Amino acid sequence: MANEPEFQQAYKELASTLENSSLFEKNPEYKKALAVSSIPERVIQFRVTWENDKGECMVNTGYRVQFNSALGPYKGGLRFHPTVNLSILKFLGFEQIFKNALTGLQMGGGKGGADFDPKGKSDNEVRKFCVAFMGELNKHIGANTDVPAGDIGVSPREIGWMFGAYRKNQNKWEGVLTGKGGAWGGSLIRPEATGYGLIYYVQHMIEYASGGKESFKGKKVAISGSGNVAQYAALKAIELGATIVSLSDSKGSLIATDDEGITPELVNKIVDIKHQRKQLTELSESDKFKWVDGARPWKECGKVDIALPCATQNEVSEDEAQALVDCGAKFIAEGSNMGCTQEAISVFEKNRKEKKGEAIWYAPGKAANAGGVAVSGLEMAQNSSRIKWSSEEVDEKLKGIMTDCFKNCLETAKEYVTPAEGEFPSLVAGANIAGFAKVAAAM
Ligand code: GLU
Repeated sequence: MANEPEFQQAYKELASTLENSSLFEKNPEYKKALAVSSIPERVIQFRVTWENDKGECMVNTGYRVQFNSALGPYKGGLRFHPTVNLSILKFLGFEQIFKNALTGLQMGGGKGGADFDPKGKSDNEVRKFCVAFMGELNKHIGANTDVPAGDIGVSPREIGWMFGAYRKNQNKWEGVLTGKGGAWGGSLIRPEATGYGLIYYVQHMIEYASGGKESFKGKKVAISGSGNVAQYAALKAIELGATIVSLSDSKGSLIATDDEGITPELVNKIVDIKHQRKQLTELSESDKFKWVDGARPWKECGKVDIALPCATQNEVSEDEAQALVDCGAKFIAEGSNMGCTQEAISVFEKNRKEKKGEAIWYAPGKAANAGGVAVSGLEMAQNSSRIKWSSEEVDEKLKGIMTDCFKNCLETAKEYVTPAEGEFPSLVAGANIAGFAKVAAAM
């Protein structure tokens, strides 16, 4: 393996849980499937030239990692962010293979993007970049080949510009991108899906851990990030009776200062700010929240019951994980991909083993945030059958997928890593083994 720290982290995290389970004993041929699946089927890397508002020629690198198509067309988002490189896209594509398997739908895994920074760019510049990016990518994707969607820096607006460019280049309308606008083939509930799905997953964790006695009602929830995942996770948790104590962006954290927490009105203001590609520092500090410059929420949020990292990879370090344990958090679930470092996961998993019923229970992104790509899968199904489901129908299907995903993680963990008496089954092991076993069997 080349020097690809993020990809190596994701690979080791998966491989170590498989090796510490009885999976390879029961299925020795899956060991080879692991080695084979560590190499993408194909990596496409290309130049993107575009013109800025001053008429200057700009250049970026575009990528698509077509990782694994055993279960269906490659499927996964596009990330536009200055940190994008092959290591990050390989880690995201690798995670995506097993996440997509956990949805129970027929989707392979892939990821793509560019080192383009949308921050500070005009609408016109972002549009020009999207059209130029798709000018090359269109040759490598298709409704039955590879179906990209959004990720950090790519919202329905960017998907729209790219979808238009695809139609122009290929002279055909097909469900080649998901997360489209409702008027031109997008699924209802797709914008909400990752955040809602995360909350549905955590609802199951709470119910299981409390023997059906507790729910989100009355729980304090710390959330990081303020993009689409964080916004809809916050709104759904509020709807279910929880209090949101934090949100954040790359500049710092917003911490609620009264019992009401972050209100839906404030979340809606944030939606507007983000839409303009601006930062949370645009908000004027009121009595209801304080701004902590340059900090993530985990050491600032005070006593919480639930923590939902929804910003980006490696956003919870070992000492932040310990701070969450110390302030009484019981449930940690990732809305982001690989939100916790390996050291942070070890803190949570150690606590789960030692404290049994009183423990922290951690759910990895590949299970907890699978709702987004699941509704992308439902969008593909609607596009290819030329129909449109109502919000209620999509939401019901999403709930069903998250319920099945939770049960699958739980039962798989019990089967392959027998928990001690009173210990919660490891959802990390359950998610990794269940996702991998499905792909390995198909391979
Ligand atoms: N970027 C999202 C993820 O990490 C969604 C991908 C998709 O819908 O294809 O799962």
